[in-house]
Amino acid sequence: MSAVQVSSIAEVRERVAEARRAGQTIGCVPTMGALHAGHGALMDRARAECGMVVVTIFVNPIQFDVKADYERYARNLPADLSFCSERGVEVVFAPSVEEMYPEPTGTFVEAPETARYLCGEHRPGHFRGVATVVAKLFHIVQPDLAYFGEKDAQQVAVIERMVEDLNFPVRVVRVATVREADGLALSSRNERLTPEERRAAPALYRALQEARRLISEGARDAEAVKRAALEMLASEALLRVEYFEVVDARSFHPVAEAAGEVKIAAAAWAGSTRLIDNVSCQAAGGCARE
Ligand code: AMP
Repeated sequence: MSAVQVSSIAEVRERVAEARRAGQTIGCVPTMGALHAGHGALMDRARAECGMVVVTIFVNPIQFDVKADYERYARNLPADLSFCSERGVEVVFAPSVEEMYPEPTGTFVEAPETARYLCGEHRPGHFRGVATVVAKLFHIVQPDLAYFGEKDAQQVAVIERMVEDLNFPVRVVRVATVREADGLALSSRNERLTPEERRAAPALYRALQEARRLISEGARDAEAVKRAALEMLASEALLRVEYFEVVDARSFHPVAEAAGEVKIAAAAWAGSTRLIDNVSCQAAGGCARE
């Protein structure tokens, strides 16, 4: 069955209300389009758990700290619609900027503690834009479950904090990162990489794995772990590291000593393309495999 494309808020609400009256569980997968197998994993999980799956496709201008990045973000709605249809998605909500923001928003949602470091520090306003648009999408779609990728681990933490603090009646479901065979996390931005940059890119994941190995073998000093990982990355001339941190898995604040559940998260530039990735690690009893 083909996915139905809906661009108005009123229509998506109507369709969801109808499904709810029929007793269906509603699952929402928020995306910015240019869909790939990473998004596909979120959809498959939603499909398995929900009666109706709504995928949202919206390149949200207020979460881009750099205008050029917004403008050149890949957009391909016809291909995205077929992708969703193949995965059994019922509704694709793809609103225009005017539909979502008839005037510049006068209200924002923020989770400043969770967003203080890492991407929050390096992309001012980014998580405020994300939290605001996800809050809007939650009010529009009113899903029971919403699916987010671990690939953007700080983003899920921000959303979970928002849901908890503001009592959204939504259960956030985390889905493991989907990777290429060489370890590079799938991302809509990967298609911008030159062949040389593409060859260099998996070094980021290798450095994260090395940091995880060190912590799982007993290293506790986050600075020492970082130094070892950065040394590995230094040999990859095409990558410029923006941050590499060991953080508490819930607060996303950097830790001096790895203890309990931590994330090792990194961002690096390959030319003009920004790559982010992270791995989970249980410091006390060895690291979790994804
Ligand atoms: P985006 O379209 O990049 O905003 O991503 C939409 C959703 O897909 C977010 O929850 C992402 O974390 C998730 N996602 C993106 N890439 C991947 C991936 N490689 N593996 C799993 N989830 C992903």
